[in-house]
Amino acid sequence: MRILVTGGAGYIGSVVAARLVEAGHGVVVLDDLSTGHRDAVPEGCTFIEGGIREHAAAALATGIDAVLHFAAKSLVAESVARPDLYWGGNTGASLALLEAMRAAGVGRIVFSSTAAVYGEPESVPIREDAPVRPTNPYGASKAAIDAALAEHARMHGLGAVSLRYFNVAGAYGGRGERHTTETHLVPIVLQVAAGERGHVAVHGTDYPTADGTCVRDYIHVADLADAHLLALENCAPGAHQVFNLGNGAGFSVREVIDACREVTGRPIPHTDAARRPGDPAVLVAASDFARSRLGWAPARPGLHEIIADAWAFHTTSSAEPAAGAAPA
Ligand code: UDP
Repeated sequence: MRILVTGGAGYIGSVVAARLVEAGHGVVVLDDLSTGHRDAVPEGCTFIEGGIREHAAAALATGIDAVLHFAAKSLVAESVARPDLYWGGNTGASLALLEAMRAAGVGRIVFSSTAAVYGEPESVPIREDAPVRPTNPYGASKAAIDAALAEHARMHGLGAVSLRYFNVAGAYGGRGERHTTETHLVPIVLQVAAGERGHVAVHGTDYPTADGTCVRDYIHVADLADAHLLALENCAPGAHQVFNLGNGAGFSVREVIDACREVTGRPIPHTDAARRPGDPAVLVAASDFARSRLGWAPARPGLHEIIADAWAFHTTSSAEPAAGAAPA
């Protein structure tokens, strides 16, 4: 197949693009490089630099069979401060992409949705039929796209899959997390391990969990990528399917820091700090639906393996920063 990957210069998009190339697909990457890196785009991809509104139609006109849509803004705190950026950059741009797909007759899309659409869950593990009640504009902007995909499937016969990611970490094929503004736990802890930060702040120690810190479900980026290839094969015309992607196991912030100490052999100082606004206590996926319907089985479910791959990437990319890339 020939596949358009929006956001294919970003962390997850570039890993999926690499897997698509390995699987023999033709890949066109469309990315405005606002947060992605040109050198993350795999060799063999056609690269178009620019925004979806300006370039999607031309990209789709090159004989595209399906779209994998990653391009998005994804900082929760920024979304609270500047919701307009999220309604425009995420929801508005996605609606423009859907219109361009209709005009070009491209009938399949796999979309990067998020566990943030569920907000504070009523029960865990979270199933796909849990209420969608996002607690911040980032989650709301993604939930609106999920709803638009369902409408386009019903009205126009689109085959759509929304993959709701839990906490993605790890690295694959020399591609990993290197955000200019880093907010995620694993890369921050590894920056401390590498001596690039003094300590990690544990945000909230009075949650109703075993050790008082938040529990999350960590999934390896390569396992996440595999789910995208399976979702692509399982797109059915006229249907919008939703799958949660996680390992179904929860680890607390303290457990993640301890695992990073074990993997890196570094002391990793931490301080206990205030809660981060909007953080639910526990987010763990019920992912049996992805397993049964897509035939997906995570090959790297262990937290230590996920962290080891992230650490290997971190130490390599810190030692040899890519030309023009933002610091890790
Ligand atoms: N966290 C933390 N210190 C940090 C970054 C994150 O204690 O420097 C906590 C955060 O409060 C949350 C968990 O780690 O409970 C996972 O946060 P992350 O931002 O990685 O993912 P999220 O679950 O918010 O998508």
